[in-house]
Amino acid sequence: MPTEPADAGPATAPIVSLRRVSKTYDQSRVRALGPVDIDIRSGEFFSVLGPSGSGKTTMLRLIAGFEVPDSGQVFIDGADVTWTRPYHRDVNTVFQNYALFPHMTVAANLAYPLRMRGTEAGEIARRSADLIELVDMQGYEQRLPHQLSGGQRQRVALARALIGRPKVVLLDEPLGALDLRLRQQMQSVLKRLQREVEITFIYVTHDQGEALSMSDRLAVMHAGAIDQIGTPEDVYYRPETRFVAAFIGRSNLVACRIERGAGGWQARAGDVRLALGGEAAPGEATVAIRWEAIELVEDGSVPEAGVHLPATIDSVVFHGDTIELGLAAQGVTLTALVQAKRRLRFAPGQPVTVGIASDDVVVLRD
Ligand code: ADP
Ligand code: MG
Repeated sequence: MPTEPADAGPATAPIVSLRRVSKTYDQSRVRALGPVDIDIRSGEFFSVLGPSGSGKTTMLRLIAGFEVPDSGQVFIDGADVTWTRPYHRDVNTVFQNYALFPHMTVAANLAYPLRMRGTEAGEIARRSADLIELVDMQGYEQRLPHQLSGGQRQRVALARALIGRPKVVLLDEPLGALDLRLRQQMQSVLKRLQREVEITFIYVTHDQGEALSMSDRLAVMHAGAIDQIGTPEDVYYRPETRFVAAFIGRSNLVACRIERGAGGWQARAGDVRLALGGEAAPGEATVAIRWEAIELVEDGSVPEAGVHLPATIDSVVFHGDTIELGLAAQGVTLTALVQAKRRLRFAPGQPVTVGIASDDVVVLRD
């Protein structure tokens, strides 16, 4: 994994930090979160990705101040805010069903947070106009929320969260109520908006596509713990746990023995010996290999860095753009996902040679 530069300047100083934060709700007596440590950098689009119940909302509520941790500390911009009330934290939250004031127009909804802090009328008008333009809602200023579509309401909610120029905006599955097409449209709106306003976004989602496509970095959550933090490429290509390998994309998880062979470290499973890229620790382990990383190669060709294995096709599933192949390779069962082409046909029982590059064999820590 890439390491942090030692002299990371102020631009990358954390804006939000959690230190050994844990939370158990009295009613459920199950630990909802932690203890977790996290550092979110100023200006980044940071996603918190995990299945339902993994503790994402709890983490967000602890940052917003709607919950107090059982132990640990929350820092915003270097200040310990663990016991600071939500109103006094420089953050704003956008929920899935953000309640705009139903009796107020778009313009009045937008102006509200600024009026509350006594901002001068000219300044309110200027900022409102800027944000209306940013979220592409010109001409809708005098409408009431019920006269808007779901996507338009969510854009107004976003504008309202941004108008006070908070340091951090927290978004809890903000696109969850929208249909697929609108959600995709809003994803690009959000990403563009975040770049333009340069405010830190902490974005909670259970949708891996959303997290991978929008984030600078993401945390993958599982049962109240953070399994991995990294760039989308890090977590996709170098998953650290079985959970991350299985939750993001699709992987073959192969139980194996790591040992030192003649040509370097290798993972042995059945009669298969998979070459590993770098250093490894000997012993029992699980390796992950992405479905699409298993290639079909010419019989008798020589691998550059990795292995070629004889295999037999067990099953074929046609998906249109891809073909999913169940393979038996020297006692190991693998799934490969290959690009479909009209002339490419496979049948069960067919012998093939598969190629697995050493960089695509990832040793997991659990
Ligand atoms: P997510 O947002 O990832 O779906 P949550 O943070 O909402 O997860 O929930 C984490 C765990 O805490 C779950 O087991 C959930 O049932 C529990 N939980 C969340 N809120 C409460 C609450 N107010 N009272 C009791 N248990 C809760
Ligand atoms: Mg939630």
